Amino acid sequence: MNVRDLIKERQSKNFTNEEISLLGRAFDFSKRGHQGQKRKSGEPYFNHCFQTALQLANWQMDSPTIAAGLLHDIAEDTKYSLEEIKKEFGEEISFLVGGVTKLGHLKYLNADIEQAENLRKMILALSQDLRVIFIKLADRLHNIKTLSALSQTPNKQKRIALETSEIYATIAYRLGMANLAGELEDLSFPYINPSGYKWLIENIKEKYGNRQKYLEKVKNIIEKKLKESGIRLVKVDFRAKRYSSLYKKLLRENMNLEQIYDLVALRIIVNTIEECYTALGIVHQTWPPLPGRIKDYIAMPKPNGYRSLHTTVFCLDNKLTEFQIRTLEMHQASENGIAAHWLYEQKKSEKDYLEKKSVFAEKKELAWVEQLRSWQKEFSNSEEFLKSLKIDFLKDRIFAITPKGEVIDLPAGSTPVDFAYAIHTEIGASCVGSKINGKITPLDYQIQSGDLVEILVQKSKKPSESWLEFVKTSMAKKKIKSSVKKSSKLIKKEIAEFKITAIDRIGLLKDISSIFSRNRINIQTTNTNLIGQHRLIKIKCEADKEKSEKLILKLKKIKEIKEINYKII
Ligand code: MN
Repeated sequence: MNVRDLIKERQSKNFTNEEISLLGRAFDFSKRGHQGQKRKSGEPYFNHCFQTALQLANWQMDSPTIAAGLLHDIAEDTKYSLEEIKKEFGEEISFLVGGVTKLGHLKYLNADIEQAENLRKMILALSQDLRVIFIKLADRLHNIKTLSALSQTPNKQKRIALETSEIYATIAYRLGMANLAGELEDLSFPYINPSGYKWLIENIKEKYGNRQKYLEKVKNIIEKKLKESGIRLVKVDFRAKRYSSLYKKLLRENMNLEQIYDLVALRIIVNTIEECYTALGIVHQTWPPLPGRIKDYIAMPKPNGYRSLHTTVFCLDNKLTEFQIRTLEMHQASENGIAAHWLYEQKKSEKDYLEKKSVFAEKKELAWVEQLRSWQKEFSNSEEFLKSLKIDFLKDRIFAITPKGEVIDLPAGSTPVDFAYAIHTEIGASCVGSKINGKITPLDYQIQSGDLVEILVQKSKKPSESWLEFVKTSMAKKKIKSSVKKSSKLIKKEIAEFKITAIDRIGLLKDISSIFSRNRINIQTTNTNLIGQHRLIKIKCEADKEKSEKLILKLKKIKEIKEINYKII
């Protein structure tokens, strides 16, 4: 375990002396920082950091990323702070370590589809730089490989396995790192579904063995045919379907293993796209295809960029067998990921959104971006593909967390009031204050991704009209407006005072008041005075100008009334 191992692992490009010295310093710093700390398995904590860095080197990452891999748990778990990393290693590496530390606080608590999607988005948004995600993925890969050490806490074990499969494997898959995604899923599977895993292992053991022998025979036949027709073959091989994806498929097929044709699939790797189609023709000439099973992911790549031709044929002994045909480039892309392609696209189009932090990625020409340029040329016609990778909705969304750990997805610029309404109308209506990351914060504060938001409520409280000046979501606006309107109807009731002079008679008051009630006007107070033969009547009622005018016309029909006027008070 030393820096030389890291250097050996990254074969794509030699490190400069400067880079090697950086890795050496990060190695020593991390080792010193984690001195004396042990993992649950009993091994030194530093091993975990080294394995994470080794994985990053294997993915051919740049030296700051590998150094940050060595340092990724320093700020969280040791006496050294992020500030010290910044002093020692500069802004770029401390930014990467800080990003991984932030992601470490996110947890997948409620197994829920919508929450999972929000959490994935939040992870991407918070990272700001794809290299943060790569470090997190390398970190998680090693953690899941060593998850058996947590056997004392099976609940935690299961939570981490679920999070790995639902969140991190899915992110890896969407970034085109299918191989890593499959590995993460396979490693999580036994913890998520122990009995299903056991069943699968018992039932496929023999099938896998027989299948391998059979495919050896098929491989020899097709290799010969392809060579005869002049195709420059790179290789033909076969690999067993991954346990986790096999199990998912079995669930759809009533656990009937006979229905699974791609239990072990043959892979034909050639040099050019033309050769892919030629090879497909040769396979179909040799064995008839099963209708409906020919898939052209070269003409129409999967959303994550996966490209290949798939077909299932009635093969030797009439057994259904799947073939996958692709070029070496497509093969490498599907194995190792085209994540960097996403980074390249992002750098071009999201400069504004990333202006603060990922200038680092801007400044630096990452080695693998070079390599991906050529892939990008091939993909440039495939708009769908680019769209699926860009995740550009992130530049105008923020993701905040409730005290319960739920992720709330909001438009950028949203405030605690928007957050409160997004949780529940009641909470929005009765909110009186907010705490952001534990600190009391004004209600017009603009929430940042990753903020932990707590809403303070008071039961009798009503929404304030002034909130309309800063809320961002249309939902909050609508709810506040309708609530303000309702209460203004109550408050803004106008009161009119009528002064009536009439010649007194029995039943006069009753006649007058019945006109009010027929017009649905609520009398608040009446008081009358007898002055000679005239009665002076003052009536206060709930009426505006319009209603009062109408009322006067009606009151004038009472012939005893000599004089009448009103004012709004
Ligand atoms: Mn870690």
